[in-house]
Amino acid sequence: MSWTVDLLIRGGTVVTPEATFAADLAVRDGKIVAVGTLPEPPQARQVVDASGLQVLPGMVDPHVHIHWPFLAATSRDNFYTGTRAAALGGTTTIIDYAIQRECHPQEAFEQRRKEVEGQAAVDYALTQVLAEHSDRTLDAIPQLMAQGVTAFKCYLIYRKRGIMVDDAMLLEVLRRLREHGGLLTVHAENAAIAEYWEARYVREGKKDARYFVQAKGNVVEAECINRAVYLACFVGANLYIRHISTREGTEVVGRARQAGHRIYGETCSHYLALTDEVYGRTDGFKFICSPPIKSAADREALWAGLRSGELSAIGADHVAFDLAQKLEGKEAFDQVPNGLPGIETRFPVAYTEGVARGRLSLNRLVEVMSTNPAKLFGLYPRKGALLPGSDADVVLVDPSAERVLTATDLHMDVDWTPYEGMRLRGFPKVVVARGEVLVQDGIFLGRPGRGEFLKAGLPVHC
Ligand SMILES: [Zn+2]
Repeated sequence: MSWTVDLLIRGGTVVTPEATFAADLAVRDGKIVAVGTLPEPPQARQVVDASGLQVLPGMVDPHVHIHWPFLAATSRDNFYTGTRAAALGGTTTIIDYAIQRECHPQEAFEQRRKEVEGQAAVDYALTQVLAEHSDRTLDAIPQLMAQGVTAFKCYLIYRKRGIMVDDAMLLEVLRRLREHGGLLTVHAENAAIAEYWEARYVREGKKDARYFVQAKGNVVEAECINRAVYLACFVGANLYIRHISTREGTEVVGRARQAGHRIYGETCSHYLALTDEVYGRTDGFKFICSPPIKSAADREALWAGLRSGELSAIGADHVAFDLAQKLEGKEAFDQVPNGLPGIETRFPVAYTEGVARGRLSLNRLVEVMSTNPAKLFGLYPRKGALLPGSDADVVLVDPSAERVLTATDLHMDVDWTPYEGMRLRGFPKVVVARGEVLVQDGIFLGRPGRGEFLKAGLPVHC
């Protein structure tokens, strides 16, 4: 009996969280229809030779901010250029934000959908930022969940930006989400302590980037994570801590998980690759992001946390400010728009620093960069898996290929990269998204608007 498929990825080494095995992968109508040694290979309209290559599920980035405002600046990219860069770095699904700004959350959600419409080159889901303590905000939660937004975010800092919520609101959101089953994600930094030290350093004329990381020392993150985790455990809600940068924060999450709570920790590629030494450089202001990058000991604790299961995911926390925007704050750390461009480099950086340096198995890397984000954000097993019935989102990596990174070779609408000059592995040779070859040998073959909005389901515990 002969059978026909649209695409056959032949002779590669499939890597999943559970196993590594030689397999062919057959795709029809954008879905995976078979994975394994196929005794009767199908007729295929298109064949990709994967011999010598690692075949991974498309990466899922749980944390990106495309075209995002901070202070007076708005980051440079749009949903086409941002998602094109994502694809070139092996990411086939992004989870971005809709942000409530003095409006009904429903309105913020619809506005963001309109902004993405016709632009996204990869599939996307949205997390709703809840920034106002009001009944209209809390009552919008079930309504948004019915429309496929099951993850929410509260900022526990950024009082002056008008998006910070207090502990009463945090507890209230956790209670509502306990009731409806969604996922709360938080930016956990203690506002009072950070604001006090920032103001004090600025007043004393201590304005270079080194004082930024001193103002936001480990206690700022650790105390806030501890508080948010305590409240979530008390209520019994799902809580996901964004961008953990410290050993202490990792330990708090690990203890709660050990006790059986549904608490999840995310770290980001920059905390895994860099150390706070960057703030002592003459261009240290470029690296200002929140939370700031911490010590080498913290960095190793984050890797250990990823190995042990204390941490569950790696995000980019991508914000693409270019040098001119960053230079606005050259004289004072509190004037620098926060954030680093990373949507394109998240996977190669983690692959290089993790797998190539022996800190993490490739199976676990796949789990924390694809499978777990898909599970926690309600997209699994459509995303984050190479199973029959999953979307055919596939990344092919040549494990021996290496390149020296330079900003001009990247595609993120910015003129710099935090990883300039680093020798990186893990840039994909081929990227397939819903059965379509989107990237071939570093060339982007997609188009704006092909990415679809993903209606998320409830988080799956992992
Ligand atoms: Zn962020």
